[in-house]
Amino acid sequence: MKKWLMLIAVTLILAGCAEVDTGDKNKLQIASSFTMITDIAEAIGGEHVEVHNLVPSGMDPHEYEPKPIDVRKVSESDIVFAFGLNLEGGTHGWLAKLMRSVELDESKFHEVGKAVEPMYIEEASGAKEPNPHAFTTPSNGILMVEAIRDTLIIEDPAHAEVYLKNAEEYLEELRGIKVDYDEKLAQIKPENRILMTSEFAFQYLTAEYDLKDGYLFSIDTEESGTPEQIKNAVDFINENKPPVIFVESNVDRRPMQTVSEETGVPIFERPIYSDEIGGAGDEVDSYLHYLEYNLDIIYEGLTGK
Ligand SMILES: [Zn+2]
Repeated sequence: MKKWLMLIAVTLILAGCAEVDTGDKNKLQIASSFTMITDIAEAIGGEHVEVHNLVPSGMDPHEYEPKPIDVRKVSESDIVFAFGLNLEGGTHGWLAKLMRSVELDESKFHEVGKAVEPMYIEEASGAKEPNPHAFTTPSNGILMVEAIRDTLIIEDPAHAEVYLKNAEEYLEELRGIKVDYDEKLAQIKPENRILMTSEFAFQYLTAEYDLKDGYLFSIDTEESGTPEQIKNAVDFINENKPPVIFVESNVDRRPMQTVSEETGVPIFERPIYSDEIGGAGDEVDSYLHYLEYNLDIIYEGLTGK
């Protein structure tokens, strides 16, 4: 038995016989797979929701070992928000296993990513998998907020007015950020419109804003940063000559450092955020700040301004 499955079993037994804190019963109990959905659900739900975040900040949401508290919170939730589109590893991933183990009513499980138009990662073998990183654009952020708002209203209609009002304020900010994206990314010169990162995490952004994608690996797993991937990235950079390359906040920097040394193209000093936001006190402490921050560093890195 895998270690975490054992933990789940032990936790379920303990939960059955011990008195445990089950949260404030007057609030909608939500479990959320990762930091961005958690942040949006808290912003829209306000004082009427209690959100338990699963994958902590600084960790990649594609692979995760749930802790006993995660198992308990998920089993007691009114709503479980996930992103889907393979973000949590798909049908064989950590969240699918967790959901099967707690046997939660399926109607409580909501995939926010269903609201967006998926894009696909094509493997060399020809196999196509959805690219989960749809949340990198404000346009998709708007669809995610609407989806979360609608779920909260359906599950807790008594507070519909609050959810509508909070969502409207949030959407107003997102629309403003989208205007900034449209204006600033349009200013990058044609020869500099190359976004090189470790993971193929910005496909939605590059497609919407006509930037060229460069990356070391398509998705962040333990097979990331192989010599062949590094060689391909070096070739890509020598051919396309981006002014800078970027490294994500939650990946191993070493493969990209090798690429930078071999090509002479510098790594932008601040990390780019792909699939996490930081905690309190971090510059990127909310989904809105995440979008603004990434825009700032891409603009600065690719325009030199
Ligand atoms: Zn990722």
